[in-house]
Amino acid sequence: MNGKGFAFVSEEAYSSRVDVCRACPSLEYETTCKHCGCLVEVRGKLLEKDCPHPGGSKWSVENDMLLSH
Ligand code: SF4
Repeated sequence: MNGKGFAFVSEEAYSSRVDVCRACPSLEYETTCKHCGCLVEVRGKLLEKDCPHPGGSKWSVENDMLLSH
């Protein structure tokens, strides 16, 4: 835990997550995931959050990277 009670992912995993979002058709206004209405640059930082895509998380590879840190 750090910050105000939130646990954050590594910089490496964060930038990978955001890269996936930038290439994702569900990203709106270049900032917002249409499935959760959240700003991906915020959601991507938070360890407890995952990609909410209905077909399954598109962050799975990035989430696996978290386990090696
Ligand atoms: S569905 Fe997942 S990969 Fe696509 S914009 Fe939302 S959080 Fe990002």
